[in-house]
Amino acid sequence: MTETPPFSGSLTRRRFLAAASAALLPAPAFAQAMGEGNVDIAIVGGGAAGIAAARKVADAKRSYVLLEAGPKLGGRARTLNVFGQNVDLGASGFARGDGTLAESAQAAGQGLVALPSGRRLFDGRREAHESGYDAFAAALGKARRDLLVAADSGKDPAAATILAAASGAPATVSGWSATAAAFLGPMSCGRPLASLSALDLALRDAPPDDTTGPAGMGALMEALGAWLNVQTDAPVTQITNAGRLHMLTVRNQRTPIRARAIILAVPAPVIAAGAIRFNPALPPRFANAFRAIPAGALEQVAFLLPGNPLGLEPNETVLARVGADGKVPPALLRGRINGSDVHVLTFADAQAREIAEKGETAALALVRTYLGATFGIAGDTVKEVSASRWTSDPLFRGALAAASPGQGAQRRVFADPLQNRIFLAGDYVDTSGWGTLTAAWSAGEAAATRALRLVGDGPA
Ligand SMILES: Cc1cc2nc3c(=O)[nH]c(=O)nc-3n(C[C@H](O)[C@H](O)[C@H](O)COP(=O)(O)OP(=O)(O)OC[C@H]3O[C@@H](n4cnc5c(N)ncnc54)[C@H](O)[C@@H]3O)c2cc1C
Repeated sequence: MTETPPFSGSLTRRRFLAAASAALLPAPAFAQAMGEGNVDIAIVGGGAAGIAAARKVADAKRSYVLLEAGPKLGGRARTLNVFGQNVDLGASGFARGDGTLAESAQAAGQGLVALPSGRRLFDGRREAHESGYDAFAAALGKARRDLLVAADSGKDPAAATILAAASGAPATVSGWSATAAAFLGPMSCGRPLASLSALDLALRDAPPDDTTGPAGMGALMEALGAWLNVQTDAPVTQITNAGRLHMLTVRNQRTPIRARAIILAVPAPVIAAGAIRFNPALPPRFANAFRAIPAGALEQVAFLLPGNPLGLEPNETVLARVGADGKVPPALLRGRINGSDVHVLTFADAQAREIAEKGETAALALVRTYLGATFGIAGDTVKEVSASRWTSDPLFRGALAAASPGQGAQRRVFADPLQNRIFLAGDYVDTSGWGTLTAAWSAGEAAATRALRLVGDGPA
């Protein structure tokens, strides 16, 4: 498996001029005004949220730096070259009509391609009948309505309690209700329904992904950040409130960066784990809110499945009915990536944690078991896999952050600034779109707007 070379994309003339004239660190005029190593706005974390924020700050011609701990931009949108194909092992698409990501991509000259709508349902090794599709749609609609009713009641029990009470059976039994429950819970949030807040799930209202980048979402993110003032391999370890400026300590850099405002766009579990020290410490309200949304585990595994045995169109998604014996955990298949033989399975919760801990040997065994039990595909058809490990990577510590029972209202805390100068951005901030690329992008832009308002027109 090799990483794709940085996507060259197309740097438009407008972007190039903006980049060149945006008083980027360490431009001499700016350094004189602010002092060497100082910026108006420091952005921490180079995923979708950080990239969107930095683009907006650069467009406003304020000085800034985007500090990314890893070797490249993109965060949980990461495209790898696997089995000769560009394959996303994180976000693989987004909802075109949701927020401004599509608009930004198009303005930057980046092409977009449509994903097939809906998903293919399988039942007992073959495609489901119409009645299966109807049953799944009805079960999903009912589960969402039941969660909304529960949210309206003002209580916030575990989502499993609501779905079990409504169906009269535990949400773990087989059938289309169980499949819908698995889709809403572990498959979307990486945790069992028993550990998820009914309120947080009820409020989640993200439209389905219908669009992707032709070279992958990771490549698209890199292209959108290509002209920004970025420091990679620059993990921020401490943020200190120094009065009118905040100081950011970056590992292996002797001089801290001083900023008038900070946009913090690192994953919530990274903050919850204390990977960045705050001086003074995070106020209890924020510390509690971060603890209230623990990480869920989702890992993706790419493999070759020659001959299109499932009869799929390029980039189709397949969901199989949860089996009666409950032995095979649910997973989501993305088939025939860009029309090739490469397929990707997403595993959740316990299986995802196993992949994150043990790596590709465990992933290969899980893929073979799943394909055999679900589609009757012989185990040795898949010889080799390439797997993500978001959950064990200290820069991510999970796939996304979902609230625990009783904690669904905590997400609102993230809308407030921290110490008046730190604006939180990332996919965990939005109360309805959380856990998506478009929510991260919008949160980055919103944080930038607020930070720009704070720094105003003049230097500190
Ligand atoms: C397996 C998987 C599949 C997904 N599929 C989809 C999908 O199909 N569609 C969709 O919309 N969403 C999907 N998502 C969710 C989507 O990827 C995220 O919501 C989105 O990418 C989050 O963007 P972000 O900018 O908030 O955070 P991130 O992308 O996580 O970026 C945060 C950045 O902060 C950096 N960082 C961490 N610590 C520090 C530090 N101390 N200093 C500096 N930088 C630091 C990290 O290296 C990272 O680059 C998926 C996620 C996963 C894991």
